[in-house]
Amino acid sequence: MGAIPEATTVDPRPGSAPSPAPPRIGVLALQGSFALHAAALRRLGIEAVEVRRAAALAGLDGLIIPGGESSTMLKFLLEEDLFDPLLAFHRAGGALYGTCAGAILLARTVENPAQESLGVLDIEIQRNGYGRQLESHVGACSCSELGEPDLPLVMIRGPVISETGPRVEVLAEWRGQPAFVREGRVLATTFHPELTDDTRIHAYFVEIAAEAR
Ligand code: GLN
Repeated sequence: MGAIPEATTVDPRPGSAPSPAPPRIGVLALQGSFALHAAALRRLGIEAVEVRRAAALAGLDGLIIPGGESSTMLKFLLEEDLFDPLLAFHRAGGALYGTCAGAILLARTVENPAQESLGVLDIEIQRNGYGRQLESHVGACSCSELGEPDLPLVMIRGPVISETGPRVEVLAEWRGQPAFVREGRVLATTFHPELTDDTRIHAYFVEIAAEAR
């Protein structure tokens, strides 16, 4: 049996290259809880760009699509001519993270009722799958990718992910259904981390956006 390598530590060397600038992250600001995502990013030292027009996507490494009402957000995306530019942003290597209504907009297939979507994440999703406003709830879900403690979970008329494609990793589940998924540089949660103090999912997304650049 070979020797077990010892853990190595990296000495920060004086005069070595400064750490790279943080990735540039935008938050789609047409409707919904975009301001709270910007606040979560600010807690990580990142000043998010509010995206209302396609031109604002230029130079971004990642974009968050917030929760809100997916049918309204879709209408605004089409009215503001942002639908195709978002697809182009994804094709060009930009990272995307959708929460709740944002996850619905990213999905391959939307049901209950059916609705047009960007189709950049190979999932089928049922709108309002956890019930109506009265069934909105809080909880916590374990996520081995992000470690301890469990992720706090705020669910507001959240969708249920009813199918995931072969390249989709399920990072956390809630009530036996995928609640936090990743396909390459696309992330989605059916819940709202921006309503909690826990910034681990945002930090994870920032890392993915930094790698994508
Ligand atoms: N139920 C909403 C929809 O279908 C999503 C709710 C949310 O984003 N919190 O668009």
